[in-house]
Amino acid sequence: MSLPPLASGPGGPDALRPLLDTVLDALAAGAARRGGPLPAGGPDGVAARVADALGDVLPDTGDPDALHTLVQALAEGAADPADPLCAAHLHCPPLAVATAADLAASALNPSLDSWDQSPAASALEAAVARTLARTAGLADALVTTGGTESNQLALLLAREAHGGTVQLVCGAGAHHSLARAAWLLGLPEPVVVPTPHGTLDPATLHEALTALPGPLLVAATAGTTDAGLIDPLPEIAGLCTAHGARLHIDAAYGGGLLFSDRHRDRLAGLEAAHTVTLDLHKLGWQPVAAGLLAVARPHELAALRQRADYLNADDDTEAGLPDLLGRSLRTTRRPDILKIAVTLKTLGRSGLGALVDQVCARAREFASLVQDHPGLELHARPVISTVLFRPADADDATVAVVRRRLLQEGRAVLGRARADGRLWLKATFLNPHARPDDLAHLLKLVEGSTPA
Ligand SMILES: *Cc1c(COP(=O)(O)O)cnc(C)c1O
Repeated sequence: MSLPPLASGPGGPDALRPLLDTVLDALAAGAARRGGPLPAGGPDGVAARVADALGDVLPDTGDPDALHTLVQALAEGAADPADPLCAAHLHCPPLAVATAADLAASALNPSLDSWDQSPAASALEAAVARTLARTAGLADALVTTGGTESNQLALLLAREAHGGTVQLVCGAGAHHSLARAAWLLGLPEPVVVPTPHGTLDPATLHEALTALPGPLLVAATAGTTDAGLIDPLPEIAGLCTAHGARLHIDAAYGGGLLFSDRHRDRLAGLEAAHTVTLDLHKLGWQPVAAGLLAVARPHELAALRQRADYLNADDDTEAGLPDLLGRSLRTTRRPDILKIAVTLKTLGRSGLGALVDQVCARAREFASLVQDHPGLELHARPVISTVLFRPADADDATVAVVRRRLLQEGRAVLGRARADGRLWLKATFLNPHARPDDLAHLLKLVEGSTPA
């Protein structure tokens, strides 16, 4: 029997090289067959093609072409965030250099639950996470799978800092993962402050905090998922100090503005938070997953401390082996920091900042096109890179149909959001390669899909 080759070890690179050619060929072939941002035919068409490519999931005898067949099927049926007409979600096109680095992470397969599985990766993670935390004005950061896990850890740290419970207070536009984390952690039902103008109003928040018994945790948002709005962070930080409340800022989307000289000031106040959620698989152009939770007081991480003799025995720790188990709720953990480190060093702050500036500028240009178009209505000028718009004089059902029609035909991928009591189409610009022509094309497609 010939054994399948391994990805690491002395033979790893040579075993991978031809397989990578296969993967790259299949990616190209799949994308060509798709021919647009999304496969045409909707869920039934896609599921049929996947079933066809898959055939027998666990055949008695293996199929040497499986790599090509399945990668091609996945590419053919993908929503490709690198297509400028794919602009629904905070779903970024990953940078080629970050994706290449992620291959090395898979090949070497370090696991960050103990030093003896990840000697260099753990040193890299410590240095890069701390630098990113300091960029946000905080002291240290945990690496997470994204905003959801970061928000959950933020609530857990708040609960533990307050001796077992805390009342979450957040705006109506806060991410759903906060309320879910409160549920998971056995915290009281969150107090949701209405945000009729999209962001937390300091006067309304002051009233809410005055009326509530503590301990309190305010969660502000820097970049709401629906509209990309930023809560007034300095005022909220001041209120938290005055009321003795803890402050978490969910900057999963807006955190990327830190890289930009032009836009960084909008995050003033971030440094006043106890914890900050960052998500580099949004405005950071990383393959999923690339989340962080920055913390102002690293000693609070002691709440996550765990002892497992096979991973961090006391005498090993005393002898100087780093204790990594308490830096996550996960055990086996990928070195997501490698692609992040490679990206930061390859592009530099100015290179990343230029990408941020580019997508923000595209969003403003798109908003101007909408505003100048007699058949379309603009919700508001974009704050980051999200634009809400709708066909003028259409009802909500029509707006929903336009979006689904474009999805079904595989022509454009737009999101949806409710604001001011109405349904809007949402375009989230995260593709720095999008050109002005692409924006005009997107509007034409919307126009063409709107029933007269
Ligand atoms: C995307 C997002 C999240 C969730 O992040 P995931 O990486 O999807 O888990 C949380 N908060 C905000 C504001 C977000 O935009």
